[in-house]
Amino acid sequence: MSDEIEKTDDEWRAELTPEQYRVLRRHGTEPAFSGAYWATKETGRYLCAGCGAELFSSAHKFDSGTGWPSFWQPAADRAVATETDKSHGMVRTEVHCARCGSHLGHVFPDGPRPTGERYCINSVSLTFAPEE
Ligand code: FE
Repeated sequence: MSDEIEKTDDEWRAELTPEQYRVLRRHGTEPAFSGAYWATKETGRYLCAGCGAELFSSAHKFDSGTGWPSFWQPAADRAVATETDKSHGMVRTEVHCARCGSHLGHVFPDGPRPTGERYCINSVSLTFAPEE
């Protein structure tokens, strides 16, 4: 993609909060029920906290009961990208921003219709933009 964003580790560290840096750039995970958006039901768009790209929509958000914001699909097919994550003794599918590579969370095959997918995303990876 031509609009991909590449920054050095020092640049990311300088512009993100320590918690954002830990999750977005070091594949961290926020504790369940601790983030800003797991219970958010307002209408709006969820933007990448790293680069502002539109990643998810309230239209696809559902209450997964997990304590993390959960979506059954991204805002657009190419908004996010995935890779296999074999850390912590599990095989999971990692989800990151297609534009800046920031880690967002994981996607699991136990979501609701119509996709059956559950994008389990850290609140700290997102910035909510309420509909005006
Ligand atoms: Fe991004």
